[in-house]
Amino acid sequence: MTLVINSIFQSSPHCVGVMNFLRTQIPRGSRFFRSQARAMHIQSIPMWTGKGNNYAYLVTDEPTKQSVIIDPANPPEVAPVLKSQIEAGKINLTAIVNTHHHWDHAGGNGDILKQFKGLQVIGGKDCASVNKTPADGETFKIGDRISVKALYTPCHTQDSICFYMQDGDQRVVFTGDTLFIGGCGRFFEGNAKEMHKALNETLAALPDDTKVYPGHEYTKANVKFCIAVSQTEPIKKLQAFAEQNTETQGKFTIGDEKLHNVFMRVNDPEIHKVTGKTDPVEVMAALREMKNSM
Ligand SMILES: [Zn+2]
Repeated sequence: MTLVINSIFQSSPHCVGVMNFLRTQIPRGSRFFRSQARAMHIQSIPMWTGKGNNYAYLVTDEPTKQSVIIDPANPPEVAPVLKSQIEAGKINLTAIVNTHHHWDHAGGNGDILKQFKGLQVIGGKDCASVNKTPADGETFKIGDRISVKALYTPCHTQDSICFYMQDGDQRVVFTGDTLFIGGCGRFFEGNAKEMHKALNETLAALPDDTKVYPGHEYTKANVKFCIAVSQTEPIKKLQAFAEQNTETQGKFTIGDEKLHNVFMRVNDPEIHKVTGKTDPVEVMAALREMKNSM
């Protein structure tokens, strides 16, 4: 309804007066104005579907059209999307953002930089062509409205950074290979203590309604492990969703993960029983080993 009203009004200059009149009639904080305030747009770009099942994400501040592209690892699948949006005047691409240095996340940087001049490369210290590594907790902006906070989450790689973005009451986090829906990344360059801190201190501290956008679509395999460990209602619900949907990114929140992701339930007596451990770091280590050998 709001969209229809807006598009009619925006299509005619005569309607500006009507719009202004409506603004004086509709109380602030109503649904009408709240929907106007949502300006962060996220486009998922699946890559290597059926193999790595990676995601790149195009994040745009709609009022200014300023955009960043997250982990554009496979340029043949990402560049055409960027080109068509630039040519249509829909985006002003300013930066590549990388969640970590692995080739299937940062390996496309060189080619993207050749095709799109003058981009900043924001990411961890080991990412290809990186020229801005934010400090842990450092914030920056995309356009006028989107605030971005870099959260260091070393373990999968030592340069892993999750990017928490907020625009009004819209909250999202891009978690790379640290947190997946119903799972977590392998501990390639770190240990269970670091993953426990990343998931259960750093990411768990985000507001529960923060939507999760991971680096891969691994939910089907992850929920298989979760259900083998624990047969709770939230896990059964996730299993049903994964069976019916091929894409699960942005559909679950940090609050959901605390319920259906066993790696975020390291203080739960049910998980203690299954792993035979009670110390959260030892529980994390045990779960990862069980998952690796599944
Ligand atoms: Zn990785």
